[in-house]
Amino acid sequence: VLLSSADSRETTTVIVTILVTSMIALAFSLITSRQREQLLVLATKDPLTGAGNRRGLDAKLTEVVNLFKRSGSPASLILIDLDHFKKVNDIHGHAVGDQILRSVTEIINLRIRVTDSLYRVGGEEFIVVLEGAGLDKAVHLAEQLRTLVDANELVPDHTVTISLGVAELKDGESANDWLHRADEALYRAKDAGRNSTSASG
Ligand code: GH3
Ligand code: MG
Ligand code: MG
Repeated sequence: VLLSSADSRETTTVIVTILVTSMIALAFSLITSRQREQLLVLATKDPLTGAGNRRGLDAKLTEVVNLFKRSGSPASLILIDLDHFKKVNDIHGHAVGDQILRSVTEIINLRIRVTDSLYRVGGEEFIVVLEGAGLDKAVHLAEQLRTLVDANELVPDHTVTISLGVAELKDGESANDWLHRADEALYRAKDAGRNSTSASG
């Protein structure tokens, strides 16, 4: 219709207008989708350490428990809590405490594999989810992490340590049951004098 009724100048104007409008619409849609991706990352990340947050952990645990039901693929949790962290804050200040949380995150991230993921769940509590790893492998990693944190001088003249509870996902268990067993193991590690690892059998 356009081509038959309009002269060539008008046709060119209409086509150029359509092209420019389409390009602007495309640019906006690209910007919006990039912003949506960034928001999704922010919604699942802890801003202080860059580790995953509680929401990210919940999503991962659901995924791992479902995969275990379907394929029996093993998975383990390492629950990590900094020892006497309240005292560390009291002595060195909250800013140093925050820096220690970032350093501990870095130590853990450098050691875990690509199939493991790290989350910060309480103020000074972390969880590593190990996919495709049974209890022995998880305990081995937990001990490596404990030794590394112990050996690093995170604050001058003060040894910062962690306690760890390890649990492998069992048949018929929910994510909550699994977390609860890791938490009980962590409690035993604390009870055993801290700077130690305990596993749930
Ligand atoms: P325990 O060995 O039994 O775990 O002792 P704790 O002192 O680590 O445990 P408690 O739960 O009594 O204290 C945790 C402390 O962690 C309290 C709080 O000051 C500190 N904390 C929690 N979140 C943050 C944070 O984001 N930054 C800093 N700097 N400190 C935090
Ligand atoms: Mg704690
Ligand atoms: Mg603590």
